[in-house]
Amino acid sequence: MALILSGKELARETTRSIKAMGFRGAGPGLAVVLVGDDPASRVYVSSKEKACGRAGIRSIRVELPADAGEEALIREVQRLNRDPDVHGILCQLPLPPGYDRHRVASAIAPAKDVDGLHPENVGKLWRGEDGLFPCTPLGMMELLRRHDISPHGMHGVIVGRSDIVGKPMAALLLREHCTVTLAHSRTSDLQGLCRTADILVAAVGRPGMIRADWVKPRAVVLDVGINRLDDGTITGDVDFAGVEPLVSAITPVPGGVGPLTIAFLLRNTVKAWELSAG
Ligand code: NDP
Repeated sequence: MALILSGKELARETTRSIKAMGFRGAGPGLAVVLVGDDPASRVYVSSKEKACGRAGIRSIRVELPADAGEEALIREVQRLNRDPDVHGILCQLPLPPGYDRHRVASAIAPAKDVDGLHPENVGKLWRGEDGLFPCTPLGMMELLRRHDISPHGMHGVIVGRSDIVGKPMAALLLREHCTVTLAHSRTSDLQGLCRTADILVAAVGRPGMIRADWVKPRAVVLDVGINRLDDGTITGDVDFAGVEPLVSAITPVPGGVGPLTIAFLLRNTVKAWELSAG
């Protein structure tokens, strides 16, 4: 039977430890910029605000209409860059059509870039320097550490090459001396490749894609996928029931990687506040 890696527990513990710092609104401030009216984005932004409240971090919501335009959004980001009460800034993704997410990410001051998408932070990540890095991969690395799973010398296969999950996860595993393969929709023999993974990270968005005959026995499986089925249930990219009996450790969905993202956003906000305090 596999060890179930509970992100929910780690997320709770992370939030509790920030709350214990006793900021009560006087310390770190997080600005979340929401452009347009996407219902899912609105839910994510509310969840982030509630988590800030639980941890004693101030949250500031900035809303712009979908047709505000990229220049207006960048002006807003620059205003937040100058605001000494704002320590972390993120623009909720996806942005509406017509916005260049790379240009917007580059407008955020690197020291306030709590999503870790500014080119300076991306560069620091790959160079092995300290910086602000994407929250979901940071959470997964801490989850491995908490369970004494060392990627050192292992073969890590990551399926999905997004800027926010797949690529930064590759960099973080590499920093821990893992041998990394980053796979995507054009990878040939993906199933065969996945079967060589000691650590398999699924970040695709296709329910149940990774089945029992895709995994190496005793592998560690991290399922990032969040897929809503027609009946309203949430499921991951991994066929949990089929895979769990074969592997040594696995994250469930829900309750696995999902809760870590917001918890590590809080942690990045505290880090940004510490950076601002020198
Ligand atoms: P994207 O949706 O940006 O990209 C998906 C990636 O999967 C791409 O690299 C794509 O390849 C690859 N892909 C698509 N189809 C296949 C296929 N058939 N075989 C192999 N690779 C494929 O990824 P995200 O990282 O934003 O999201 C991935 C999943 O993780 C989603 O379910 C999302 O909801 C979830 N997620 C969960 C988070 C959390 O737990 N808190 C946080 C962020 C995301 P290509 O590049 O070639 O198109």
